[in-house]
Amino acid sequence: MTAQDLDRAAWFKGASVECSIDSSPPDRPFRLVLLGAPGVGKGTQAELISQRLRPCHLSTGDVFRAAKSLPASERTPAITQALACMQRGELVPDDTVINIVRERSRCMTCPAGFLLDGFPRTVRQAEALDVLLTQLGVKLDAVLSYDMPLEQVIARLSGRRTCAGCKAVFHVTGRPPKVPDVCDNCGGQLVLREDDRPESIRVRMQAYQTSTAPLTDYYQKAGLLVSLSAAGAPEEIYQRTAAALSSLRR
Ligand code: AMP
Repeated sequence: MTAQDLDRAAWFKGASVECSIDSSPPDRPFRLVLLGAPGVGKGTQAELISQRLRPCHLSTGDVFRAAKSLPASERTPAITQALACMQRGELVPDDTVINIVRERSRCMTCPAGFLLDGFPRTVRQAEALDVLLTQLGVKLDAVLSYDMPLEQVIARLSGRRTCAGCKAVFHVTGRPPKVPDVCDNCGGQLVLREDDRPESIRVRMQAYQTSTAPLTDYYQKAGLLVSLSAAGAPEEIYQRTAAALSSLRR
């Protein structure tokens, strides 16, 4: 099964839309949060984990990027404001992101489990997620935190290329596509994301240090944090991740 097979319609379009992910739930559905600075390879791991262990990949960044293709007349003021923040590399206001996740809370009860990628990004968002999961009667299995020195992170980000079609992530040196600038999965064009431009990268790293890095303490205290080195090839990091997940207590 590929990530594209996993129908994430309810995540992209909201609770009123049916998705087909629950046709054959896995034996062990995982409910996970992924943490890590932009560029550590978190998106690639999210893809591998969702392909192999089948939790539904729920990325708030993907929701905002999808909203970009909506005509301006169909964008709510909150989404328009969110897209402007994203373009500058800034975090979208907590209330906007929390509302967007709340609207999609059904995805947290998905029989396939879920993998939150890019949410929460602040302690306030983490507290809101706790409230939401308690209301839904759902418990997180783990919060996977991918660690890497800052200079390496910046080098990785500037070489990242994303498929304009299916959103698969490549890297000019670390994970090159078979044909330059063409997606291996769908043949779409690979592009430099607006928020991966150097001026946006600097703002994003700052936002990460001040707002998101404190989340590791938050989840450490909650006994959920699993720290993993983000060094090495994607498969190597995945094997590390899978080993950590299989040693979690049920
Ligand atoms: P990502 O793909 O997760 O790196 O997200 C891309 C951009 O979307 C970020 O740089 C933010 O502008 C915005 N964004 C995504 N998720 C969040 C969040 N949980 N809180 C605030 N901003 C977010």
